[in-house]
Amino acid sequence: MTKQILIVGGGFGGVKAALELAKRPEDFEITLVSEHEHFRYYPELYHTATGGLRTQTSIRLRDIFAGKNITFLKAKAERLHREAKAIETNDGQKLNYDILILALGVVTNYFGIKGLQEYSYGIKSPEEAAEFKAELHKQLTDEHAPDKHYVIVGAGPTGIELAGALPGYMKKIIANHGVKHRAIHIDLIEAAPRLLPRSPTSTSRAVRRQLKKLGIKLYLGQAVQGETADALTINGKPLTSHTVVWTAGMANNPFFEANKFAVNDRHKVLVDEFMKAEDEIYVIGDNAATPYSGMAQTALYDASFVVNNLKRDLAGEELERYKPKQPISIIPAGPNWAAVDWGRFHFTGRKGWLLRQAADLVAFHDLEPWWKATEQWFTEFAEQENCEICTAADDSLATT
Ligand SMILES: Cc1cc2nc3c(=O)[nH]c(=O)nc-3n(C[C@H](O)[C@H](O)[C@H](O)COP(=O)(O)OP(=O)(O)OC[C@H]3O[C@@H](n4cnc5c(N)ncnc54)[C@H](O)[C@@H]3O)c2cc1C
Repeated sequence: MTKQILIVGGGFGGVKAALELAKRPEDFEITLVSEHEHFRYYPELYHTATGGLRTQTSIRLRDIFAGKNITFLKAKAERLHREAKAIETNDGQKLNYDILILALGVVTNYFGIKGLQEYSYGIKSPEEAAEFKAELHKQLTDEHAPDKHYVIVGAGPTGIELAGALPGYMKKIIANHGVKHRAIHIDLIEAAPRLLPRSPTSTSRAVRRQLKKLGIKLYLGQAVQGETADALTINGKPLTSHTVVWTAGMANNPFFEANKFAVNDRHKVLVDEFMKAEDEIYVIGDNAATPYSGMAQTALYDASFVVNNLKRDLAGEELERYKPKQPISIIPAGPNWAAVDWGRFHFTGRKGWLLRQAADLVAFHDLEPWWKATEQWFTEFAEQENCEICTAADDSLATT
């Protein structure tokens, strides 16, 4: 008899689980429910925000699942009915399951800081990235009172990637629109005393040097206290800007607390050695309290792990136990430059950047037919390689 698998979340973990299960149509009947029509490729959103193609970061789920035995439903999961083994969605559907896989990802956290949600930009979706990009254009081409400060809050991987890509993109806008010369500052604010607080200190130092070379002004150990329509308050002092991007906070999906899952002190769901949160309920990716949760590679790994065990279970084989796998960290910071932490190996520069391109190609191949993934990746790769303005020396950006 086929097992009814319900997957909630059309991101890295959910999509990977669905595609792996779909290889066994005789054993599994798969439904994936997600609140958006599209899969979001988060690692390249910084690039979409700085002139890259939107197609790179947004792929229709129906296209990914075309020709596969996967039913896709666009809806938001709201309530879990444990007794009935069903999920209730915002449009009133009740979806039954034998096995439930939850991969809902995280949400932006503003830590209750006044004004941030209202006035700051984000880059957690292609729509947000496009909004930020439009604001950049508006400010840079404004002849009257344009922003002098372009502020990124949060020096984790997303903040660093965006900070590294901004100078090149801003030079491009300035050159393309014939904007008059003026001093522009790109400011990166971090509450911790160093960049990339979760990376080795040698990586933080290398990235810091690289960002300084690009003209980014760093404010380390500085906490944001509030934002108004005209300024950000940092350690009691105002910094005038209308272009503030918040990348500093994520919180676990509220679905879990609303449905009374057991969570740890970071609000991640507690799972056992098989990634089960409860009977017949698996929680994977960013939602699970595992050592490397918070990375796309972990979500993909978790999905493969759970699917492998579901197949073993059907075959009456002994189940494997979860062994956390340390992901490779590759953080681009400017054109042709990335910092890599790969187990004992740490390196920076063009080699790192090329490795990141290779990793993106592999990730696309995981989700799409090879011809489509390669075409999509190549267009973007060629565009980044050929951006001469992005690397050219220019004094439009104030150095600090
Ligand atoms: C800007 C940014 C850059 C990143 N860069 C990198 C990187 O370079 N390398 C890396 O390894 N990781 C990176 N990450 C982290 C990585 O994207 C996540 O770890 C990964 O997406 C987690 O996969 P997931 O399946 O757990 O969740 P997600 O991929 O977030 O998917 C969750 C899905 O669930 C849907 N959903 C949420 N709530 C509901 C609901 N109630 N009902 C139905 N559907 C719902 C969402 O719409 C989404 O489609 C980045 C993250 C961001 C935000």
